Amino acid sequence: MTVSALRPSAISPTVDFSVDGVQHGFLRLPYSRDDSAWGSVMIPVTVIKNGEGPTALLTGGNHGDEYEGPIALFDLARTLTAEDVAGRVIIIPAMNYPAFVSATRTSPIDRGNMNRSFPGKPDGTVTEKIADYFQRELLPLADIVMDFHSGGKTLDFLPFCAAHILPDKRQEARSFELVDAFCAPYSMKMLEIDAVGMYDTAAEDMGKIFITTELGGGGTATAKSAGIAKQGVSNVLRKAGILKGPSTASVTRTQWLDMPDGNCFSFAEDAGLIEPLVDMGESVVTGQAVARIHPIGKTGAVPKDVCTKRDGILCARHFPGLVKPGDCVAVVAVTI
Ligand SMILES: [Zn+2]
Repeated sequence: MTVSALRPSAISPTVDFSVDGVQHGFLRLPYSRDDSAWGSVMIPVTVIKNGEGPTALLTGGNHGDEYEGPIALFDLARTLTAEDVAGRVIIIPAMNYPAFVSATRTSPIDRGNMNRSFPGKPDGTVTEKIADYFQRELLPLADIVMDFHSGGKTLDFLPFCAAHILPDKRQEARSFELVDAFCAPYSMKMLEIDAVGMYDTAAEDMGKIFITTELGGGGTATAKSAGIAKQGVSNVLRKAGILKGPSTASVTRTQWLDMPDGNCFSFAEDAGLIEPLVDMGESVVTGQAVARIHPIGKTGAVPKDVCTKRDGILCARHFPGLVKPGDCVAVVAVTI
C-alpha cells in the first residue's frame, strides 16, 4: 500500500449511509478555484435504506455525455420510498458530475476520464479523488454494482446490458443472471479493449456483482432507450430482492450476444466523411464493408471501405458524420 492510499478521502458525504429512510444529499469535494476560493464540487447522492438486506450501488454519468443512466436514476431517486426497499439503494445519477454538467465525456477540470481513473488517488486530480472515494468508501458497501453507460457523442449502440467474463465463475454467473434480469433487448458478454483503470474492474476485483449497459448514444437519449433504462434498473432491484414484485424478464426475452475477441472491432485508418453501409442490428459476414470513408480534401478521390473481421450483427457504430484514423467505426457481436 502506498502512503497516499492511507490518506482519508477528500470527499465528505452529507448523507449517513447507515441510517434508515430516504436521504437526498451530496458527496462534497473541496475544489478551490478562481470563482470560488473555498468552493466544492457537489455530486448529488440519494440513499434509501430499510432494515437489513443487500446494498445496490447505482451510477450514471460515469461519462458526462451519456444520458439514459442519469434519466433513470434521477427518476428512481425521486420516486423510491423506504417502504419499497428491503436493504439499501445508493443512487449517484452523475458520477463524474463536472463532466455531466459540461455534457462532455471527460471532466472539464482535469480532462479526467472517470472510467480510466481507478483506483484513483486521495491527493490526485478532482476525477482521481472521486474515483478514490468510490474505490475505498462506496464499493465496499455494495453487494451489487450497476453502472449505466451509452455511446456518448461519438458512438451508438444497440441497447444492451452487459457483464464480463471473469476468473471467478460463480461471480460471473451471478453477474450474467442480473444482466438477464435487466432484460434489455440485447444482453452482452462484453470484451473490453482498454480495461485498465475501469470502475468495472475495480468492482469485479473486489468480488462485487457488477453489471453495466450500453443503451444508445449520439449524445442523447430516446423515449425507447430511457424506458429500457428505467425498467431495467427496477428489474435488477427486484431480482436482487431489494424491491418487491415481478420483473418484466418473466414475460420478455432478451437476445444474448458475445464479443469473443478483438476481431469484433473495426477501426478507421483514414480520415473523411463516413457513409454507413449497414445499419445497427443487421447481419454481416467476415470481410463485408460496413462503412465507406470518403476523402473530403478533393473531388475525384477513391473512398476506402471499412470491413468486418467476423460474422455477426452490427452492435455499435461511429456516430458523427466525420471520422479520423483510429476511431472505432464498427463493433460486430455474435448471437448466442
Ligand atoms: Zn460510457
